[in-house]
Amino acid sequence: MASPHILLFPFMSKGHTIPVLHLARLLLHRGAAVTLFTTPANRPFISAALSDTTVSIIDLPFPQNIDGIPPHVESTDNLPEMSKWPRLAIAAKLMKPYFEQTINSLPRISFMITDGFFGWTLESAQKFGIPRLVYYGMSYFSMSLSTVASQSQQLLIDLELDNNKLFMFPSFPWIKFSIKDFNPAVADPECQDKLQSEFILEHVEATKKSYGIIVNGFYELESVYADYWNREIGPKAWCVGPLCLAEAPQKKQENYQTPSWIQWLDRKQEEGKPVLYVAFGSQADISREQIKQIKTGLEKSGVNFFWVAGKNQVEDDDGFEYRVKGRGMLVKEWVDQREILEHSSVQGFLSHCGWNSVMESICAKVPILAWPMMAEQPLNAKMVVEEMGIGLRVETSDGSINGFVNWEKLEKVVKELMEGEMGKELREKVKQIGGAAAEAMAEGGSSWNALNELINELHAERE
Ligand code: UDP
Repeated sequence: MASPHILLFPFMSKGHTIPVLHLARLLLHRGAAVTLFTTPANRPFISAALSDTTVSIIDLPFPQNIDGIPPHVESTDNLPEMSKWPRLAIAAKLMKPYFEQTINSLPRISFMITDGFFGWTLESAQKFGIPRLVYYGMSYFSMSLSTVASQSQQLLIDLELDNNKLFMFPSFPWIKFSIKDFNPAVADPECQDKLQSEFILEHVEATKKSYGIIVNGFYELESVYADYWNREIGPKAWCVGPLCLAEAPQKKQENYQTPSWIQWLDRKQEEGKPVLYVAFGSQADISREQIKQIKTGLEKSGVNFFWVAGKNQVEDDDGFEYRVKGRGMLVKEWVDQREILEHSSVQGFLSHCGWNSVMESICAKVPILAWPMMAEQPLNAKMVVEEMGIGLRVETSDGSINGFVNWEKLEKVVKELMEGEMGKELREKVKQIGGAAAEAMAEGGSSWNALNELINELHAERE
């Protein structure tokens, strides 16, 4: 039997792309040939990440005249503001003719894994008789609960909910939700503009008709929700992660130069001072006022911290960096987050709970201060705190889920995690879960087996 040839096409955001790059490695390890589609501006990042592999990378022309998006901006982290992401996602459909032309010229494809936001790839897949699997980068927990919420519109209306009123779904009576746990676009597609709601309906419908879903997680972590999804919702989802474990955390090449922040973390390790890692993913927009509160909270907490500000401008107009000198480090460039989380001085992670950050923190056995900001992050935060018991919630000043956080609340929770008894308990718990994650990915583990089964099933079917 010829080796399988698998086509991957991640959405143009770091959070959707990075795990698919890990998945590419897992597929190569199983003897598959892998072709990965992207856009020209995203190619350098992908090429660099896969430079030591045989993955064939193809970039498709991306439309340049999208209303509200500057030319050559082809990924969410470069958008002037995150609220513009649906325009980027909708414009991606214009790549369809190039996508199909290219497929036509490629060797026979066993199956494709394309992003959930590329619902239009289903039609192409069907045209060429190729099974399509979908990648959303969401847990079973958030996929199941978002679906149940969207199916329960009437229940939610009958409950006459305000933002903070708690309710339960009959299938999950042990969890209390508030309406703000759900992304408004998921809970009520009509509340968004027409184009966006059409886009959501289209990709959700395409997912339903696809062969299956790839989940970045492991069965033992959320078996109740995995079983619920596969029994009650579907299409079948295969749990093949945590994908970040496909690659050794510190892949040091010959010319590797230890970044200054790793040297700083090394020093903290020598001094015996635990460090709080602070990062909110690749795309969150954080207001200036909120940044001020983060600065004050971190400063007053007295803990050692390493803050990756990313695209958010943290200006040093108030002497902050001077005042925290020696115990606080602020970095504005792209870092290797896994390398930081794996550093033994890092003992806590103040995170927006993007699903990759959650997975990476679990694998590094670091407990989380959960501060969700958008998308399905409130559900991820709920899972981290209430289901897994590996984190504390950062409370907002008005009790809402992703509202404003005052420095006092931040200071309190930071101290609790880094210095309190609770922090110790959470660290123990995350060690156990991190161990289970590694077992799932090791030879013979649940994720290892699931990926083999998926390849065998689809490859054999297509031969
Ligand atoms: N990331 C990184 N370096 C950075 C910022 C982000 O390596 O400076 C990675 C992080 O490790 C994760 C991804 O980018 O793999 C972000 O995904 P996540 O789901 O956590 O958040 P998103 O960016 O999608 O909100």
